[in-house]
Amino acid sequence: MSFKEVTLNDIREAYQHIRPLVIRTPLIESQHLSESLGARLFLKLENLQVTGSFKARGAANKLRSLSSGERERGVITVSSGNHGRAVAYVARELGIHAVICLSEAVPVSKVEEIRALDAEVLICGRTYDEADGEAQRIQTDRGLTMVHPFDDPLIIAGQGTVGLELMEDTPRLDTVIVPLSGGGLISGIALAIKSTDPSIRVIGVTMERGPAMYRSLRAGKIVEVEEEPTLADALAGGIGFDNAYTFSMVQRYVDDTLLVSESEIAGAMAFALEKHRLIVEGGGAVGIATVLYGKVKELGERVAVVVSGGNVDLSTMFRIAREQGVLQ
Ligand SMILES: *Cc1c(COP(=O)(O)O)cnc(C)c1O
Repeated sequence: MSFKEVTLNDIREAYQHIRPLVIRTPLIESQHLSESLGARLFLKLENLQVTGSFKARGAANKLRSLSSGERERGVITVSSGNHGRAVAYVARELGIHAVICLSEAVPVSKVEEIRALDAEVLICGRTYDEADGEAQRIQTDRGLTMVHPFDDPLIIAGQGTVGLELMEDTPRLDTVIVPLSGGGLISGIALAIKSTDPSIRVIGVTMERGPAMYRSLRAGKIVEVEEEPTLADALAGGIGFDNAYTFSMVQRYVDDTLLVSESEIAGAMAFALEKHRLIVEGGGAVGIATVLYGKVKELGERVAVVVSGGNVDLSTMFRIAREQGVLQ
């Protein structure tokens, strides 16, 4: 097999392709975090992106690149929720039929949002990995195009556009902190950043419960981890034994990876709600958790944290707000 290496130019091209379908998200300074850390701390608000997460960027880039035959036959994907919603949204905008395979672990609100976008939703297994197997069978049967959630050069390039916007909006960054699951987001961002300024540190963050990429990096090979219930449901799932891009890109471009606990994720969600009036889902809050709980040594003077998504059930958000004491 031959693999196409993703380049900075692919990310620049992706930026032009996705513009009609996504928004340039705001970058705000967190006064609270800047004061408590003694550094300038910026939040990149992908929770405000179309479909509630950055996943719309990769989906838009991938679907816009399909041939007319592929568009006619339709697409299929497997998702822990946000990627499915992004693919369903872009497919509807472009008039493409989309089949979205979800596991039983996907929160109700995410399933409902995807159904509302006219996609064909199939609950295909108990875990992400089970749903993945089922999706591959359906893809072959029906001749659909698979839209991988992370391990695809066009998806990686689409997600990498977050990195371009970050560098345009904040000059002289020292550290960029990015939520990490399959690694599409951080591969794209790290490539954009390191090809522009290799001295900027890029740090990946994931949850203690089932950190597939984190374990694989330490093992030096792809390992499987047990899927466990977590507030960061968007970060659940393996990186695939057939991983062709993100594992090696993360090895090459990412400086460090860190873990956060469930209570730190809850604390970060409550912080975003209380101090910034922002609803951030667990997977989107892991970067905030690392700075809130002092997990990163040597942040430098200017830090950007990617807040990757906001699709959390309101009942969960408000339970956490009460438990964390920011809501009575
Ligand atoms: C998908 C997702 C991530 C992780 O992205 P990867 O490309 O799989 O590493 C992080 N946060 C949110 C909210 C997501 O939906």
